[in-house]
Amino acid sequence: MGGVLLTSHHVSPSLPFHLLPESPQILMSEYWVSNKKYYCTYCKIYIADDAPSRQQHEGGLRHQGNKERFVRGLYKTSEKRKHDLEEEKREMMRIDQVSKPFYPRV
Ligand SMILES: [Zn+2]
Repeated sequence: MGGVLLTSHHVSPSLPFHLLPESPQILMSEYWVSNKKYYCTYCKIYIADDAPSRQQHEGGLRHQGNKERFVRGLYKTSEKRKHDLEEEKREMMRIDQVSKPFYPRV
């Protein structure tokens, strides 16, 4: 590989960091049960670690939407990585050809 044009893409599994707690209700309950918390990895929030709270949260539209997005995101990331590898291979081949001694066309 003699290509200088090689750019390395950083493909990090991107997680939805914008999903932060915005409801004051959650902050309230977090205050109330500050010693017992359950972290929801899909919503990236802490909720009260008791059955009713978790059931309520997991049955909520917000959680289900986040979960769906999370699962889809994982799938998309792996698909994208596969695609990127293919792209990279093709790109490298292209660069290899380009960086070979150049004969002017007449
Ligand atoms: Zn959740």
